[in-house]
Amino acid sequence: MHKKLLLLVLAVLYLSYGNAQKPKTPSASQIYESLQKLNFLGSVLYVAAHPDDENTRLIAYMSNHVKARTAYLSLTRGDGGQNLIGPEIRELLGVIRTQELLAARGVDGGEQLFTRANDFGYSKHPDETLKIWNKNDVLSDVVLAIRQFKPDVIINRFDHRTPGTTHGHHTSSAMLSMEAFDLANDKSAYTDQLNQTSLWQPKRLFYNTSWWRYGSREKFDKVDKSNMIKFDIGTYYPLKGLSNNELASLASSQHLCQGFGRLSQRGTQEEYIEFLKGSPVDNNNIFSGIDTSWNRVLGGSAIGDILYAVENNFDFTNPSVHIPQLIEAYKHLQNIEDEHWKTLKSKELKAIIEMCVGLYLEVSAETNWATSNESVKLNIESINRSNIPLTLLSIKTPNGTSVSKNIELKSNIKFTFEEIIKIKENAQPTTPYWLNKKGTLGMYIVDNPEQIGLPETPRVYNMDFNVLIDNTPFTFTKPVIQRYSKPDKGELYRPFEIIPEASVKITEKVIIFDSDKSHEVSVVIKSGRHDLKGTIELCHPEDWSVSPKMHKVSIAHKGEEQTVIFNVTPPKTGSEGFIGPIIHIGDKDYNKELFEIAYEHIPFQTVLLPSESKVVRLDINKSGENIGYIQGAGDVVPESLEQIGYKVKILKLEDINTEYLSEFDAIVVGIRAYNTLDDIEFKQPQLFDYVAQGGNMIVQYSKSYGLKTANIAPYSLTLSHDRVTDENASVRFINPKHEILNSPNKITQKDFEGWTQERGLYFANAWSDKFTPILSMNDNGETAKEGSLLIAQHGKGYFIYTGLSFFREFPAGVSGAYRLFANMISLGKEDMNLEAKRND
Ligand SMILES: [Zn+2]
Repeated sequence: MHKKLLLLVLAVLYLSYGNAQKPKTPSASQIYESLQKLNFLGSVLYVAAHPDDENTRLIAYMSNHVKARTAYLSLTRGDGGQNLIGPEIRELLGVIRTQELLAARGVDGGEQLFTRANDFGYSKHPDETLKIWNKNDVLSDVVLAIRQFKPDVIINRFDHRTPGTTHGHHTSSAMLSMEAFDLANDKSAYTDQLNQTSLWQPKRLFYNTSWWRYGSREKFDKVDKSNMIKFDIGTYYPLKGLSNNELASLASSQHLCQGFGRLSQRGTQEEYIEFLKGSPVDNNNIFSGIDTSWNRVLGGSAIGDILYAVENNFDFTNPSVHIPQLIEAYKHLQNIEDEHWKTLKSKELKAIIEMCVGLYLEVSAETNWATSNESVKLNIESINRSNIPLTLLSIKTPNGTSVSKNIELKSNIKFTFEEIIKIKENAQPTTPYWLNKKGTLGMYIVDNPEQIGLPETPRVYNMDFNVLIDNTPFTFTKPVIQRYSKPDKGELYRPFEIIPEASVKITEKVIIFDSDKSHEVSVVIKSGRHDLKGTIELCHPEDWSVSPKMHKVSIAHKGEEQTVIFNVTPPKTGSEGFIGPIIHIGDKDYNKELFEIAYEHIPFQTVLLPSESKVVRLDINKSGENIGYIQGAGDVVPESLEQIGYKVKILKLEDINTEYLSEFDAIVVGIRAYNTLDDIEFKQPQLFDYVAQGGNMIVQYSKSYGLKTANIAPYSLTLSHDRVTDENASVRFINPKHEILNSPNKITQKDFEGWTQERGLYFANAWSDKFTPILSMNDNGETAKEGSLLIAQHGKGYFIYTGLSFFREFPAGVSGAYRLFANMISLGKEDMNLEAKRND
């Protein structure tokens, strides 16, 4: 029988990942584990900065072995990273990573919390981080998380004592956690929060250290560990058929957009936490001095007497035999005064009661999305799979209407019915709450204080089932979902969402104009309902013009699209701004684009963001036309160069020979080409030959380690970790007379305005005197870095190395980046043209 049980557990565990909306149907061993957790009254809060910072081994261990209520507070949602599985970046990437964190917690048993801090990209120092974040607001959110979650123990992932040695977000997370530990119980701190929660003093705070923080295992062996606690987190769970570290790997592997899919591990593994503050630890027990039994709560011992007996005598073949005791404990629980424990444990116990009677409640809509005023049919299923008497007394529909049922739910007899609901006139569309308003670089704006810290927007379309179990009333709330099937996938679930009656998008997010000629811009309108009629116009900067002024919108069916074209004309000289469509339907206006995010490992997401595109009229002159591009790790520089009129050919390494190269005015090497192209070293002689004969070779950054050749340039050049992460860092011209800053475009300080995310990375830090450094820059408090743009004349041509982040600035439509790049391509071209003429 036990073997059967294990198989069941595994099946449930694996199935639940791809189908997060599916109602849970737990096995007896899962019910038993829930009961064990119900009988442990203690909690752990793990604190770090990003999705993937969290140590899933320790979270899984605390949640599944210790049985503590465990949460991960990630200060940010990871908007600033890269996406390895799809095109979403920035806000949309943050939405994916939020869901990946929730998926990871679904595996390791933790809960997930956030603050309003935005991951704005790499930061070298917490001083910078805490300036770009609103320090007071983020600290307030950490305090709020502690006051609401009420952890006994806090564990920081990072060390608050070593600023500057890791990402500034990391150190900041630890520093804020240290401060919040004291403030959470201070009644003069963040008093507004006390309307929605209460003071709390965590017992102690630790830092989750590791041998690799000390450089090597040997060095760590010698460290005094009297202040540390050690866990063997390799513990094996027979009820799951998994080791804790296997569970942790499964959880980490949810971070797919970061490429965290990994092999699982088994066997003994050590984990260390270092005591930082609070009440000292006894007997290596992080909960020492805290009663984690039911005696912790006034009035709890009677509840404990009942529930420990159920745990000790648990019937794995028929958990419903425990219903009378569980209900008795539930009634006792309603009488205890401590609101925190009452709310928390009532929720857990109610879920266990539901599981023990095998109650299955599902509300499936016939469609997965609807708009205001639309009528939607809901198919409702309810079934009691036990011999306990159950009555479905009534339901409350998502619109708040109570419908009396009084149906006896007989054992294993399915009861189904339909309800038709009309979506309310003023229904709010489904979208992440933290993206409702445009935030700052460092912070999301959240108007509703009740939403701060929540992992996602609470679903508003729910149905309440009022059920009598063994003569005791319970209310179970279930979200409206859509259940459907696909022949090649089987049964699937999707969240039910409200979308606006009209949404709109411009496909190109940045439109570059290299002259004053007008461009056609396509705008796509999507209808959320039948018979959509109205008009659409395109807002634009004052010195730009758009025709026609307006188009008619007329779409017959829900879900259909209509495309309209506007002619956008730039001014005569350089200018940039935003264009954005507005749809007028009756007395309502719509200006948002509807993004849909569909991946198998997370629930389907819809996100509404203002539809806008940046338009840039470049003041740009160019010499040279044909560019050969050698792609490295992948970037959109070729497309960007085509947008400003260059002809770009992507070169394969095998095509490279001096004669073929001679048809190009410049060869541009993509980012990290010298890290990713195995055979590029064999092509260097031909490339340098091409330069010697008059070509320009422009090499964008490669990482300084893992280079595929020692000679990326014809003269000695050493790459380094030097980078300037402040995109507004001042740029000094070392060589203001150099052609590259003067021809054909005169480069000024203005060309370094409006840069995004950073100036650049992996600058050179040593070079042959054949190279001329052009620019000098540095982050605050650092020495000047002169290796961001280096030029060497080699024969009749030029070799250029640049760590400047053109690959980021081009897609953001930064005009100065385009003008500087045009100068790099044009370098020496005037002379060369003359020379070519002389030779004719
Ligand atoms: Zn991180």
